[in-house]
Amino acid sequence: MFEDKFSDRTKNIEASEIREVLKVTEKPEVISFAGGLPAPELFPVEEIKIACEAVLTEAGSDALQYSTTEGYTPLREAIAQRLKDIGIETAIDQLLMIGGSQQGLDLTGKLLLNDHDTVICESPTYLAAINAFKVYNASFVEVETDEEGMNMEKLEKALQAHPQAKFIYTIPDFQNPTGRTLSLARRKKMVALANQYNILIVEDNPYGAIRFAGEALPPVKHFDTEDRVIYLSTFSKIFSPGLRLGWICANEVFINKFVQLKQAADLHTDSFAQRLTAKYLELFDLDAHIEKIKAVYRMRRQTMIQCIERFFPMQVQHSSPEGGLFIWVELPESVDARAVFDICIQNNVAFVPGEAFFPNQGKRNTLRLNYSNMSEEKITEGMRRLGTVLTSILGD
Ligand code: PMP
Repeated sequence: MFEDKFSDRTKNIEASEIREVLKVTEKPEVISFAGGLPAPELFPVEEIKIACEAVLTEAGSDALQYSTTEGYTPLREAIAQRLKDIGIETAIDQLLMIGGSQQGLDLTGKLLLNDHDTVICESPTYLAAINAFKVYNASFVEVETDEEGMNMEKLEKALQAHPQAKFIYTIPDFQNPTGRTLSLARRKKMVALANQYNILIVEDNPYGAIRFAGEALPPVKHFDTEDRVIYLSTFSKIFSPGLRLGWICANEVFINKFVQLKQAADLHTDSFAQRLTAKYLELFDLDAHIEKIKAVYRMRRQTMIQCIERFFPMQVQHSSPEGGLFIWVELPESVDARAVFDICIQNNVAFVPGEAFFPNQGKRNTLRLNYSNMSEEKITEGMRRLGTVLTSILGD
């Protein structure tokens, strides 16, 4: 009904099969490694209560009024300082507060993509970025990835084959869905190639702060000599995803245009959430809080990897992330993870079949596991169930 009234643009958007598939994972008896949720028991509820109270006492009705599109200045100042600490020198005029980095993906599509424009991305990549860019009728060129992230020779070939491509979309740290990290050398090379082939880079970096092993690497934007990196990040994984607070850091040329687009979309990001977060940063130690998150995720990740080694058949490969929320699993090529999923659901354990993370033709023998949202006991039990199913299909 009424579909004939919908715009042409929306005809590209299909109901996500994966969303339908994942509905069955919501039953309470299912141990689900399918989501991507941060651990809720780590949200700093008491501190947020104190910050709320302080905001309302100090700012009163101002905290509830409309505000500027760019965002709350003290919060942008605090973010500029945090960015400086990780190697991004920025002024607050180069920062725009947005409703989570997901809004940044949508605004980026709106700003940069004409119908059928090419986006070059990692293969596989973040499902909701694929969907965000599809709204603007993007075509995707996937570049193979390995343990060090996107393959730079393949990237250069893609750039040569698609000289009009608009941007490279990359998640350099603990990528969603693979958990892999782009190596230092490749970060530099990516920027060098972007300069050489005159293409933009969209760096989506929600997980960089959640490193619990190995050496921290500077963001891709750190190496950006020509201001062609649009950097997105968020408070979702380090503070609270429900507050919907993220930011874009980019040259003013981009920011000024993003501001116009955001004005048309929602006027501004939740001003109370911004004040509350700024107050939290003033009163409490976010870095100490992030350390707590990292300690918990480190253990959960370790438990999951140990379970893979213990319960999964030998032929199964997996990534070994040094941070973030996800592990990527590759089954032998003949095995369809979607069929494995159906058997797993009958055994009350779930994951995301990997095919959906490939914008073109998916590898059906892959799957994504999340470890952030579950106790170690549950991880062990769920992985035991998953291992039993895989062993029944593959043997030991
Ligand atoms: N980018 C990536 C790679 C993600 O994994 C996520 C969240 N799952 C987002 C963007 C969106 O995050 P948010 O809108 O909560 O900041």
